[in-house]
Amino acid sequence: MRLLIVEDDAPLASGLQRILEAEGHAVDVTPRGEDAVSAASNERFDLVILDIGLPQMDGFEVLRRLRATASDKTGPTPVLVLTARDAVEDRVRGLDLGADDYMVKPFAMPELTARVRALLRRSQAHGGPRIAHGPLTLDTVARRAFLKGEPLELAAREWAVLEVLLAKVEKIVSKEAIIQAVAGCGDDLSPNAIEVYVSRLRSKLEPAGIRIRTVRGFGYMLEEYK
Ligand code: CA
Repeated sequence: MRLLIVEDDAPLASGLQRILEAEGHAVDVTPRGEDAVSAASNERFDLVILDIGLPQMDGFEVLRRLRATASDKTGPTPVLVLTARDAVEDRVRGLDLGADDYMVKPFAMPELTARVRALLRRSQAHGGPRIAHGPLTLDTVARRAFLKGEPLELAAREWAVLEVLLAKVEKIVSKEAIIQAVAGCGDDLSPNAIEVYVSRLRSKLEPAGIRIRTVRGFGYMLEEYK
């Protein structure tokens, strides 16, 4: 798992990094809230450990920005907040801003690593509502796709096309309906563009036996998986 530690107490940050790396995680560390926000917007982390008392941008602001910019593609990243403050209102504020768990300093390392494991388990196990079709599974909240249990990379528009087809397995979906669903992703789309996305989807899904049939002059149909 990829973890990001945002902590300006250097000895604490490096101690956490060492322990979590020993548990097999890839761990990035930054002492600055601004850097954490930009790192999280560029890369996918499985968990963020976030100190509240940071120079300049504090942890509350970092959390607010992480939650405000949470990408549709990846779903919310679990955040474990660390703080020296134990005032009830700080805890409430952190949780209201979308923190998943909260630890007050000083804490025992084994407790922290146990909570990290619990958060990672929870986010791996649950994710969001899932749609399954044969060996294909879509986690509609985290917007992750899995084929035979392996992560399947889909561009945003491929995802949108697939979602529409999956909602109507064994029914014909018109190109117009697909264009309308995909147009939410941005600019105007031509029927030809839809053909391109369908063909990319086919090349990813057909090896697993999932077929998208062309209904000439009308649209497409995701065939029943047998
Ligand atoms: Ca601090």
